[in-house]
Amino acid sequence: KTADLSGLPPGFIEYLAAEGIEELYPPQAAAVEAGILDGENVVASVPTASGKTLIAQLGMLSAIERGGSGGTSTGRALYIVPLRALASEKKAEFEAFEDFGVSVGVSTGNYESDGEWLADQDIIVATSEKVDSLVRNGARWIDDVDCVVADEVHLIDDSNRGPTLEVTMAKLRQLNPNLQTVALSATVGNAEEMATWLDAELVDTTWRPIDLKKGVHFGNALHLDDGTQRELPVERGQKQTAAIVRDTLDDGGSSLVFVNSRRNAEAAARRLADVIEPTLSPEAREELATVAAEIRSVSDTETSDDLAACVERGGAFHHAGLAPEHRSLVEDAFRDRLLKVVSATPTLAAGVNTPSRRVIVRDWRRYDGTAGGMQPLDVLEVHQMMGRAGRPGRDPYGEAVLLASSHDELDELFDRYVYADPEPVRSKLAAEPALRTHVLATIASGFARTRDELLDFLAETLHASQADDPERLEQVADTVIEYLERNEFVSRDGDDLDATSLGHTVSRLYLDPMSAAEIVDGLDAAEGKPTPLGLYHLVSRTPDMYELYLKSGDREEYTELAYEREPEFLGPMPSEFEDVRFESWLSALKTARMLEDWAEEVDEDRITERYGVGPGDVRGKVDTAEWLLNAAEQLAADLELDVTPAIREAKKRVEYGVSDELLELAGVRGVGRKRARRLYDAGIETRSQLREADKSVVLGALRGREKTAETILENAGRQDYSMDGVSPDGSARPGDS
Ligand code: ADP
Repeated sequence: KTADLSGLPPGFIEYLAAEGIEELYPPQAAAVEAGILDGENVVASVPTASGKTLIAQLGMLSAIERGGSGGTSTGRALYIVPLRALASEKKAEFEAFEDFGVSVGVSTGNYESDGEWLADQDIIVATSEKVDSLVRNGARWIDDVDCVVADEVHLIDDSNRGPTLEVTMAKLRQLNPNLQTVALSATVGNAEEMATWLDAELVDTTWRPIDLKKGVHFGNALHLDDGTQRELPVERGQKQTAAIVRDTLDDGGSSLVFVNSRRNAEAAARRLADVIEPTLSPEAREELATVAAEIRSVSDTETSDDLAACVERGGAFHHAGLAPEHRSLVEDAFRDRLLKVVSATPTLAAGVNTPSRRVIVRDWRRYDGTAGGMQPLDVLEVHQMMGRAGRPGRDPYGEAVLLASSHDELDELFDRYVYADPEPVRSKLAAEPALRTHVLATIASGFARTRDELLDFLAETLHASQADDPERLEQVADTVIEYLERNEFVSRDGDDLDATSLGHTVSRLYLDPMSAAEIVDGLDAAEGKPTPLGLYHLVSRTPDMYELYLKSGDREEYTELAYEREPEFLGPMPSEFEDVRFESWLSALKTARMLEDWAEEVDEDRITERYGVGPGDVRGKVDTAEWLLNAAEQLAADLELDVTPAIREAKKRVEYGVSDELLELAGVRGVGRKRARRLYDAGIETRSQLREADKSVVLGALRGREKTAETILENAGRQDYSMDGVSPDGSARPGDS
């Protein structure tokens, strides 16, 4: 019983009761028995939706209640999330603790800020990249963390992001040897190994609060893992997915469909909405129309429109190309059972709490460029998607279904996923790109001053505890040290390793050293004032920017553009005969061209169409470019290169998405690129002109939106910003507002 728990802040038990939690789930009880309330390290390998969050809360809150290791009256906890989108979700969840005096802060934003303001929070939520950056920037409160929670720790297996989580855990544990570590994981093949690595007690279970039936649909039947079959006919001309969604609907439930690409998610949502629409009541239609209107008001892009059009008909898609506001509108409407079907890409399956009666894993293969062609998904990933099935207290059970189109495939899917155990988590640290950045940071922030100390540090990682080839990490580390030395990020004197001033800057800026080297070389090669396109291209060809793919026909188009604008590029252009390098140069050019379009006020909608991307991607690229240009500016300052004003201008233009003449106006909070253009065209060109302007002109330029006009005038520093009694001048066209 939760009432029997001790060592927690007064008020927490009542909070749980108000949430309907009076008895611990078995995995939670096991964590208590393992000593989580007494500072014991715990690894919890537990299925999706089985109450991991409460395990984390028990660890964090008891640590806070126990008091800080530094002698302070309250302790401090750090919750590491795998995705930025989840940081705000977790913060919102923990904010309820403020009622009993536990404060919560979320650390997002720029990598290089040191986050000192966070020092007063009891619980801090951040991504592993952010925590890594805070450590690099010497945020002092990091030393006083008493309990760290790593959510979705199985992502250590991810070659892109896993190494950062792994190294960050090792650093936090080195900073505070008394640190309590709580690691939450999906059920994995080697939880024991993870527990050994973290000196932790292990809670390893397949218990779930609601029964989960797994199965495969084939022909006209659903074959379940308990050996039973159920009739589930597919009518002529109907698709399997549609038939299953229909069947779930008849039973009063909702379906979550996982597919392998954004385009498929969108197409599936359109098709599945056809199934839902005829069954909607007039009230449901009205409520859905309200959600659709909210979706349209987020942005006027094609994706936004497509999504709203699906939602009106009772379905939706969910993928990383959506704006965050879109994602949460879809999640809320699905949780409220307004939406009956959502088709999603697996990227967002992890962590987003959207339970559903049925989960349909439609695609079990995904295109993988590095492996060449379609590759089967990991068992771990499929199990996580399946785990989203069933809402405790609402559904009698959850059902997760794969789709087979032949007898052979039916057997294969049972073997491969239904009956299979998840893979073990393997460290991906011993790779050059990962070690390049982490070795530099480890040296620059003083965790290692010699090669031996570096190897000792690396010995504290998961990699060292599971490597079948222990020499490998050492070999890669040596290659990387050489690279860092050659590029003057690190200097070596005998056995001693030291970061140069440039190396410190690169580490603090959170750049991949290879990106920094590319930027430094490019800026060095600049003759005269670099153009925005030249700078966008420079940052787009670094490994820190994901380039846009070249589609068919792009090669010709961008080759032509490359010759046309050759003088603008910083550094030599590779020859057309160097196939791979040239191709990658062109991809960077395509990315740079997209950024240039954005900075020349091309409509977001046109951009998404022209480059075949979602609005979320445009913003992602813009954010990355802004961050990299900011880094370029600091590197230029460090090297005393005379290009800072050009970089600053290119950065501001990409930040606001406007041409030069609008920079000042767009910098006023609440204005943005479109309104800045309208104000400018109405004759208001600067902030001070905005302060002095005729109110009816302002209101006219803002299409009669009084509240917006007042906010903007106030932000521009105008005292009498009220729009009472002002009518817009005639330039506003009817229907615009
Ligand atoms: P996980 O993080 O493992 O995916 P969550 O922590 O989000 O799962 O828990 C899933 C749901 O179960 C949440 O809605 C939560 O409120 C509920 N829950 C957790 N623990 C209990 C409990 N002991 N009793 C009743 N409900 C619980």
